[in-house]
Amino acid sequence: MSSPWPAGPRRVLVVGIDGVRLDLLPALHTPHLDAVAAAGFLAPVEVDDATPTMSGPCWATVATGVGPAKHGVYGNHLGGHRLDVFPDFTTRLAKAHRRRTFAAGGWEPLFLARDGGPLFAAPGRLAYIAPLEDTPEAWEVCDERVTAEAEYVLGRSDDDPQASFVYLGAVDETAHFRGCGADYRRAIETADARLGRLLAALEARPGRADEQWTVIVVTDHGHVDAGGHGGRTALERTAWIAARGPGITPGAPVLGPLHHTDVAAHVYAALEIVPDPHWTLDGRPFTSAPVPVS
Ligand SMILES: [Zn+2]
Repeated sequence: MSSPWPAGPRRVLVVGIDGVRLDLLPALHTPHLDAVAAAGFLAPVEVDDATPTMSGPCWATVATGVGPAKHGVYGNHLGGHRLDVFPDFTTRLAKAHRRRTFAAGGWEPLFLARDGGPLFAAPGRLAYIAPLEDTPEAWEVCDERVTAEAEYVLGRSDDDPQASFVYLGAVDETAHFRGCGADYRRAIETADARLGRLLAALEARPGRADEQWTVIVVTDHGHVDAGGHGGRTALERTAWIAARGPGITPGAPVLGPLHHTDVAAHVYAALEIVPDPHWTLDGRPFTSAPVPVS
């Protein structure tokens, strides 16, 4: 069977933006997320009943492709996890497949041996950049530095990672401190501008014309209006995934329902890696609906 997609080196970028409410997106200026959606899809994800609507378990599910019953992360302290058996995709790809991988961000348990972490245990390249305080302003500075580092690694370094995860945390921090008002909405627009810089770094790569890039943007959970999550309201349970790349038909509906476990499954598929059945992934790659032939 021939593929409509030209052959070329495969690359994947996953951008995780913490705590972005789906219902607010239509009213916000997020041209870069909109562009990803237009070139592929943006669809809701419901955090399932077995998963607390908290960052730790949701990001563990995104990164591993299995749910909490397997990865064992049920809170923002990751202790008791089984990430050695169910590793994140940057670690699995680096170790088992000799792929260059990269992970960057500022939330300790994702990247450091703190609070039971790290989730991203052993990517080929790791950039942890600490927020100097636990405030929205300090997190904006952190995300800014994370973005600059990722721009460098994705665009100009010799590392040339084949699979990357970049984490932005200021949006969630702003909601916790100030609720989902004007500051929160502005933080989402700022995160979108950072997404735009990462996408521009990809486009400026010297070998870009020959490369096949998959871009996935994902949030972990929502927030109640006053700021906060962990409960089961629709606002907290509703997350989303946007993606574009080979095999994803622009504008065609993605066959759902989508799950957070699908992200890692799609990362492997985008790199043309067939998961070993022993990985027992719970997710499956994104599938576009057939486009009607006119
Ligand atoms: Zn979160």
